Amino acid sequence: MIVSRSYEEFAEHRDRMEGSIGFVPTMGALHEGHLSLIRRAREENEHVIVSVFVNPTQFLEGEDLEKYPRREEADRKICELAGVDLLYMPTADQIYDEDELCIAAPKVRGYILEGARRPGHFDGMLQVVMKLLNLSRADRAYFGMKDAQQLVLIQRMVRHYFMKVEIVPCPIVRDPDGLALSSRNVYLSEEERRRALSISRSLKRAGKMIQGGEYEVSRIVEAMEGTLRPDVDELEYIAVVDRDFRPLERIVPGESIILVAAKVGSTRLIDNLWV
Ligand code: AMP
Repeated sequence: MIVSRSYEEFAEHRDRMEGSIGFVPTMGALHEGHLSLIRRAREENEHVIVSVFVNPTQFLEGEDLEKYPRREEADRKICELAGVDLLYMPTADQIYDEDELCIAAPKVRGYILEGARRPGHFDGMLQVVMKLLNLSRADRAYFGMKDAQQLVLIQRMVRHYFMKVEIVPCPIVRDPDGLALSSRNVYLSEEERRRALSISRSLKRAGKMIQGGEYEVSRIVEAMEGTLRPDVDELEYIAVVDRDFRPLERIVPGESIILVAAKVGSTRLIDNLWV
């Protein structure tokens, strides 16, 4: 495995690759969720590129940029064992210019739900993903359905900017007790982690209701609130949207996403269910 820190070195190694390339962009502190993307990329491509970059432009003032977990050595080993060919670990000055041309998230889908709670977050995310996709010139790029809104916005960007890469959505990986894996789970105390389980439990409950024929969003949301309220410290939103992030009043099977964002202690967690 080659590890590149500079843009020039990365580009040189990338240029030498022939055959299909699968790319997995991450912010590091790699866990089984990331690994599922890397494994899928490994299966479907001749070469696999991973990036580890805690992108400053997608963090808002007062968010956890400084304390975001950084585990470079462990990440490097995990990538090596997973059969990654090229690992890009750039510094911010390799990626950004002091007078930067910016990408703006769409005014509607970029500013609801996560975008309403974190205004500007998706601008920074799309900007870095655009750069990394162009740098890697991958045939396929792998993204987790855990970050549903991010995934849908990236798909839009690729469509709107006529980019050739195929975006591959990958299912959410959970701990056996249901908690969706996230690099931010390390912030949770044992007691908070136990309460955080109400998030996946509420989604499971929604799934069961839908299986039982309940398609009315207001009733599903009410039931989810009942599961969440006693355990989370701040319920930011429960939302039901279609696969293009338009709000739904009734579940359309095969077309719907149920999303939750909540704070447990000071940790902000998101999770969702595609139904
Ligand atoms: P991050 O390092 O948090 O920016 O995540 C990098 C990629 O891994 C994104 O496409 C995420 O959606 C994906 N990812 C993170 N957690 C999970 C998970 N639990 N299951 C599947 N994919 C995930």
